[in-house]
Amino acid sequence: LFAGETDFVKGVVAMDGMPPDDRIEVCFAGRSNVGKSSLINALTGRKALARASNTPGRTQEINFFTCGESHYLVDLPGYGYAKAPIKTVEKWQRLLKAYLSGRATLRRAFVLIDSRHGVKSVDEEIMTRLDKSAVTFQVVMTKADKVKDVEREKIMQQVREKIAQHPAAYPEMIITSSEKGWGVDVLRAVIANLV
Ligand code: GDP
Repeated sequence: LFAGETDFVKGVVAMDGMPPDDRIEVCFAGRSNVGKSSLINALTGRKALARASNTPGRTQEINFFTCGESHYLVDLPGYGYAKAPIKTVEKWQRLLKAYLSGRATLRRAFVLIDSRHGVKSVDEEIMTRLDKSAVTFQVVMTKADKVKDVEREKIMQQVREKIAQHPAAYPEMIITSSEKGWGVDVLRAVIANLV
């Protein structure tokens, strides 16, 4: 499903630039620096597919990747970068809203949460957006190698409590480390079951 057959299709900045919604897709959302590019690269087994963000918060494009002919992986721009200008943030919010409400083939959003930091207010904003757009989302914990087990449990409890308040949340989280390769197969299997 993934290996060796993932290709970059295009980066879009507006709804009318999107590829036709002719296949199932899943999207990835997360704060800048959460490890989104690394995870997409680990998932697809390609080193530089999702170009690891040069300037955090700068990339405002929604990037589409194909996996064979069967589905799209959609990389949403990282959010929550403190220095992002307000105009950029507003533009991003409009595009995100349009994308999440207007894409009939979007099957699930993966919301990436840093294992060290848990759910921040910007993550909650995204989750609320997903509720409103009725897009099921699943939390993917990233950089799990960076925290001790005890700490991870504490953070995960916080995440569980937060997602319990969101009707669009899928209750199970996926714990990953792109660095160690943890959970990448699990995520891949989840996606394979959706498409
Ligand atoms: P993005 O901005 O969300 O696309 O984040 P990146 O994938 O560019 O990663 C941000 C930083 O975190 C980079 O320095 C990565 O090397 C690091 N990083 C990403 N994933 C992991 C991980 O699983 N473990 C560790 N230890 N570092 C990671």
